[in-house]
Amino acid sequence: MEAYQLTESRETRQISKSELIQWLTAEGELQQALFEQARQVRRVHGADAVVLRGVIEISNYCQKNCDYCAMRAVNKNLDRYRLLPERILEIASQIKEANIPIIFLQSGQDPQCDSILEEVIPELKKQFDLSVLLCLGEKPREVYQKFAQLGADSYILKFETSAPEVYRQIAHTPLLRRLQCIRSLQELGYRVGTGNIVGLPNQTLDTLAEDILLALEIQPDFVSSSPFIPNQDTPFEKLDFGDLNLTLNTMAIYRILFPSALIPSVSALEKIQKGGQLMGLNAGANVLTINFTPSKCREKYAIYSKQRFVVSLDHALGTIEQAGLKIANTFSPHPSVAVPI
Ligand code: SAH
Repeated sequence: MEAYQLTESRETRQISKSELIQWLTAEGELQQALFEQARQVRRVHGADAVVLRGVIEISNYCQKNCDYCAMRAVNKNLDRYRLLPERILEIASQIKEANIPIIFLQSGQDPQCDSILEEVIPELKKQFDLSVLLCLGEKPREVYQKFAQLGADSYILKFETSAPEVYRQIAHTPLLRRLQCIRSLQELGYRVGTGNIVGLPNQTLDTLAEDILLALEIQPDFVSSSPFIPNQDTPFEKLDFGDLNLTLNTMAIYRILFPSALIPSVSALEKIQKGGQLMGLNAGANVLTINFTPSKCREKYAIYSKQRFVVSLDHALGTIEQAGLKIANTFSPHPSVAVPI
């Protein structure tokens, strides 16, 4: 168990790959000790309350062709949609009404969303005083800058894998470009989230350990790990699901290395196994994202799969209760508000 006492502090930068691989592969009692340590770090650093955010998936158009994602540009079997500003603001009012403090706008990499966001972001601040979190892919620095000037607070851009050749094979664009975007976002004053996917082809324990080292280099404000989900109408549709334990171990290691970071327990965990998001909270996560995308659009937003698990407010509140955690301070969500629409 001693081997699993990770050091916090600046020394974390000196963590060796072999040490990380030992933690990544922890099973049985050792894994439980890792999770216990992650929960303790979360407690000690006051990150024990679960932050709720409300996501609206605003467009499934995408310029990219990531082999794991059905929103890839060449997929002709997907009906495409893009929400208009009025619709986004309508849903934002429901997020506000549910007492959820963070609105999370996600989309494929779709430049045509830019003008919509320029209209919407100031209104989200003015009308609802919501914290605005974006996850819209790689964009020119000027676009990130404009969104920040208009009031966007944070941005998630996952590096997905730290292995440049694996990234290029899968996403068909250079990893370096993505990393440069992350750097720009940090320079522009965003709180930045990043992270990896577990279970991509050609990934090894070695590259997974390097993912964690890359996250340490980036020093993000939020960090996440999601298991790979095979997705219909993609080149990866026949592959196996990513490994649940490897993902949970990655999350626990992230927690220990980033004591007060926001770490989501993603819906893909629940897709792999019922109760998966509870397992994520038990491994040190402290964020749940509730889906507010209009039901007609949800299955078209095919990031994980058409039959992805859609997180409702009730499911999130039940999971938090089962984990014995509280909802983050300043607000208490109103369970009687019937979301998602
Ligand atoms: N277009 C944006 C948002 C992508 S979706 C961008 O490129 O950043 C948000 C995240 O979901 C991705 O970064 C990826 O980590 C995760 N994701 C998407 N499809 C997935 C899949 N099939 N399996 C596991 N994770 C997936």
